[in-house]
This record gives sequence, C-alpha cells and structure tokens, in this order.
Amino acid sequence: MAHKETVSPFPLRQPQVERNLPPLHAMGRSGLKAGEVALVGAGPGDVELLTLKALRFLQQADVVLYDYLVSDEIMALVPSDTILVCVGKRAGHHSVPQEKTNQLLVDFAQQGHKVVRIKGGDPFIFGRGGEELEVLADAGIAFHVVPGITAAAGATAYAGIPLTHRDYAQSAMFITGHLKAERDEMDWSTLARGNQTLVIYMGLMKSDYIQSQLITHGRAAHTPIAIIERGTQQAQRVLKGQLSDLSELAKSAESPSLIVIGEVVALSEKLDWFARAQTEAPISQLGRQSA
Ligand code: SAH
Repeated sequence: MAHKETVSPFPLRQPQVERNLPPLHAMGRSGLKAGEVALVGAGPGDVELLTLKALRFLQQADVVLYDYLVSDEIMALVPSDTILVCVGKRAGHHSVPQEKTNQLLVDFAQQGHKVVRIKGGDPFIFGRGGEELEVLADAGIAFHVVPGITAAAGATAYAGIPLTHRDYAQSAMFITGHLKAERDEMDWSTLARGNQTLVIYMGLMKSDYIQSQLITHGRAAHTPIAIIERGTQQAQRVLKGQLSDLSELAKSAESPSLIVIGEVVALSEKLDWFARAQTEAPISQLGRQSA
C-alpha cells in the first residue's frame, strides 16, 4: 500500500488519532448504572459548552430531571425515548418544591433507573446540588457529579470581561442577590473593596439595595458594571454603566441575568468578541459575496 509522505519542517500531529476515537458511549471509564444518579451541570446555555461527560450521561439516562435554566438546544440532545421531568424553579412562577424534587430523585433511583439531574451552569454554585446529594447519600444511593461552566465564567467570557486581571482585579467573589435586608449577614465592607470583581447571581430584584450598600461601604460610584442577560446564548445582551446606574439598568434586564461589578468590565470595550462576531456576516457568505 502506498504510503503518503508529509513534508513539513515541524512534526505533524497524527490525524489518525482523531479518526480512531471510540464512540462517546465507550469513552468513559465509568458509565451511569441502574439505580445511580448523575448530578450534571449544563453550563450557561451555548450547547457547545456542555462537557463530553454530561453528553454521555444524558444519552445513557432513563430519566432526566431538568429545570428552566437548561437551554432547549441541550435538552434536544436527550434521546426521544427518555422520560423528561421538569422540576423548574423560577422566581414568581409555579415550581416543584425542593422536597418533591429530592423525593423524585430517590424514587427513580430506587426503582432501578439511570437518573440524570441536570441544572444550569454548575450544579454546586447557587444550584442546591449539595442539598440534593445529601438526600441521596442519606438514602444510600450512588451518584456522580459532572461540573459545568458556571454563569460567572461563561457569561463574562462571552461578554469579553476577564474575571481577574493583573492590573484591575486580584480576586473575584460570587454572591447571591437573594438577600433579605432585615436578615442581611453579608460582609459589605469586604464586598465593597476595590480591585476585585464582584459577580452577583439572581441580583436583579435587589439591585437597589446592593448598589446602596456597596457605595455606602466605599466602592466608587463610578465603578464600571455590566448586566449580562442570557449569557453565551444567541440572544445574549449586555447592559453597561456604572455602579450608581445599577438599579436603573436592572429595570430593563430580564432573567437570567448576571451582574458584574469591577474595573475589569471596562475591558469589554476592547474584548467583546461575541457581540462583534454576531454582527458580522458569516465567513462563508463573505467569501461568496466577493467571488
Ligand atoms: N448553577 C447556576 C446558577 C443558578 S442561580 C450556575 O452555576 O450558573 C440562577 C442565576 O444564575 C440566574 O438568576 C442568573 O443570575 C445566573 N445565570 C445562570 N445562567 C445565566 C446566563 N446564561 N446568563 C446570565 N446569568 C445566568
């Protein structure tokens, strides 16, 4: 058989390695077994940010319990004969109580099903994943955890906002905006420090309070801020301003939105690659036009 020669000053990667990849279902060392639960992070929305392991478990599951943050594109990867159960949680909407979700997970696993519990972003970041696993552990049910790209990482990446930067932010903090003013145990003077990035999940409703607490505790009123709506999705929208505009800007944002506060937000002027890519014509069309 003729051997094809490659002439290159650099060693080339062997293309055969990629062609010989085993099928996805055969790749993992451990599959999902009957009676087990996989707690899976779906990432922030863009289907290509799903991990291979998440995809493999979704394809092996008998039952998938999901909530509204998991994008339709990702749910479309679940085989059509899988049982889907929506246990969605959404502020102000009817939702399945947490105890009911916990019970469903236990029941499906004890019936011998392969169960996937999929959540938006990362299941351990403001996702109650820990609570659900405690219930499974108490019931003696085996489980796996598949981490996902959390909104703070995904949405900022697509908005061109580096969470840390040697010149502008030496730390980043993630907090929930589900605060009760009368029982507020947040350490606002730490949160208001400069040269750090503050990321707030579920913060739209309390943006007024957050803005005034941060300014009162010393964060400059002109600190750049962004509200990233539907981060990483085609419909991503980024509203920008300064800390003193936060509650005003929040009025025109919809859930899911992430609030980002810090000097690094200003870098998005230069780095917002995703918005730019969306306004440009696809490369294939550009080529055709000039031909
Ligand atoms: N476990 C999830 C967070 C669940 S809390 C994670 O790791 O990302 C829900 C909040 O996450 C939303 O109110 C919003 O603040 C944020 N969020 C999740 N997905 C988002 C997205 N695609 N864009 C912007 N914010 C998002």
